[in-house]
Amino acid sequence: MRKPLVAGNWKMHTDSSQAQDLASSIVSRVSSVTDVEVVLCPPFVWLERVAKLVEETGILVGAQDTFWEDWGAYTGEISPLQLSEMCSYVIVGHSERRHIIGETDEIVARKARAVARAGMVPILAVGELEQEYKEGISKEIVSNQLSAVLADGWDHEIVIAYEPVWAIGTGLAASAQYAQDMAAFIREQLSSYGLNQERVRILYGGSVNRGNFKEFIEQKDIDGALVGGASLKAEEFAELVMMAS
Ligand code: PEP
Repeated sequence: MRKPLVAGNWKMHTDSSQAQDLASSIVSRVSSVTDVEVVLCPPFVWLERVAKLVEETGILVGAQDTFWEDWGAYTGEISPLQLSEMCSYVIVGHSERRHIIGETDEIVARKARAVARAGMVPILAVGELEQEYKEGISKEIVSNQLSAVLADGWDHEIVIAYEPVWAIGTGLAASAQYAQDMAAFIREQLSSYGLNQERVRILYGGSVNRGNFKEFIEQKDIDGALVGGASLKAEEFAELVMMAS
């Protein structure tokens, strides 16, 4: 049985008091839920504060990104070893990093390996652009994104977040059936890289909200969600966690 996982990606939102309030409010609403893994991914600057707040609640903390080297002269970057003092998970390959910052599949792969080396679990985000979806090449794109990380061998825990880029932050979620088809495809691909496909959790991400999440979580190959916008509203985020329970 795969334990459902609901992760909130706060992106570059929240000032210090908003981060504190949001985390406290989430803690008070979901800390009694033990059959869902809840992961909060605040901006780097609030990681320590949020980590302290969720201590001993069962809620975990994740980072939104990392650098791929452990230490060195890399001005402005954050080491996976620094993150490992407070994080259990790190998102790598989020579409905003791939398509706004320009991260390549190779960079994402280096980051994923660095996260695993530091003893954390990467949440590897994959997904096609709208044009690629329209061209019918979604599987090819996702397959290449997976291969960049897994083809050289992978023997750590990993979570895959399937996030069609056209559904992120647009209010236009994929259909549950389409997300399920893609998740099943991803699961199949995992076994071709020697991973135990039954154990790897696959999340859906892209405009998940209280109105549509039930349909996604009911799908056979979808084990939870990576949530952006709705993770900034404690009440709605808590409802998503309850739906996964
Ligand atoms: C995301 O940032 O990963 C995401 C899925 O955002 P949203 O839920 O706002 O579409």
